[in-house]
Amino acid sequence: MRKIIVIGAGPAGLTAAIYAARGNLSPLVIEGYQPGGQLMITTEIENYPGFKEGITGPDLMAQFRAQAERFGAEFLTADVNKVELAGDTKKVWVGDDLYEAQAIIISTGASANLLGVPNESRLMGRGVSACATCDGFFFRGKTICVVGGGDTAMEEANFLTRFANKVYIIHRRQGLRASKIMVDRVRQNPKIELILDTVVVDILGTELVEGVKLKNVQTNEMQDLPLEGVFVSIGHTPNTKLFVGQLDIDDKGYILTKTDKSQVTATNIAGVFACGDVQDSHYRQAITASGSGCAAALDAQHYLEKMA
Ligand code: NDP
Repeated sequence: MRKIIVIGAGPAGLTAAIYAARGNLSPLVIEGYQPGGQLMITTEIENYPGFKEGITGPDLMAQFRAQAERFGAEFLTADVNKVELAGDTKKVWVGDDLYEAQAIIISTGASANLLGVPNESRLMGRGVSACATCDGFFFRGKTICVVGGGDTAMEEANFLTRFANKVYIIHRRQGLRASKIMVDRVRQNPKIELILDTVVVDILGTELVEGVKLKNVQTNEMQDLPLEGVFVSIGHTPNTKLFVGQLDIDDKGYILTKTDKSQVTATNIAGVFACGDVQDSHYRQAITASGSGCAAALDAQHYLEKMA
């Protein structure tokens, strides 16, 4: 029986692990087969305090992980497939292996949304991507598009101009959700063209992407736009499937945590805490995820002290 199991290893889970390990709670971090969370598929992070020149997501996560390991956190690179959270002993399964703990910290984050148009899945990895950092390199000298109007879409479009000759940003409204500084950068980039009030109704191509079928939502006019890459950047869905039926979850799938100031990461089950993007639909920043990971470790520590 362990004191704490942390499920998920992005900024929230790794910060929780650092705090729990320094608190002598010897956490086991079940980090999943894609550890590091969404920062692994972002470009330069310019807004994480302490890194004046910026740092890449994978570098930042490697540092978090090494810091947690230094204080004795143990890591298991595997996916959790089942949990039983009720009662004093929390049960977590990885395949047939059962792990038990007195407290659980959930930091499973969120995953990229897809458009759901007919040929998107078929052409995934054949010109369709949800990760500019991973796949941008393959589009050297090509014409591509980024779908979405948020900060991620702007950041990815800018990043992709390092490789592509031309990047269209296709957004379903006239107004962009992204912050002004990101929009200004996009507008100043001569390789980027905005196509607004427009949705992608399908992706064209047999073996590889050859274009997108667009519809202007104001005029209903349809247009085929030839291009070779489609980067989907339309937000995220929290990874909470494992917990449905056990934890209170809102209508968008985010875990509900308490508003009580003394335990902001507590869920509806005693001894189960949630932090980071899995419970935050609003801020969704590495630094806020980290902060809530710290709070989760402290909340878990208080819970364990009371149980002792
Ligand atoms: P957002 O939820 O902010 O934006 C998603 C975008 O996708 C919106 O423009 C939305 O349109 C559009 N969209 C959603 N669903 C669909 C759909 N089915 N079809 C077409 N378009 C769709 O997500 P982001 O990933 O951009 O950003 C997440 C958070 O991370 C934000 O808080 C952001 O500020 C932050 N961030 C900060 C960065 C930085 O500071 N450097 C970099 C990257 C992200 P609509 O606007 O109409 O809803």
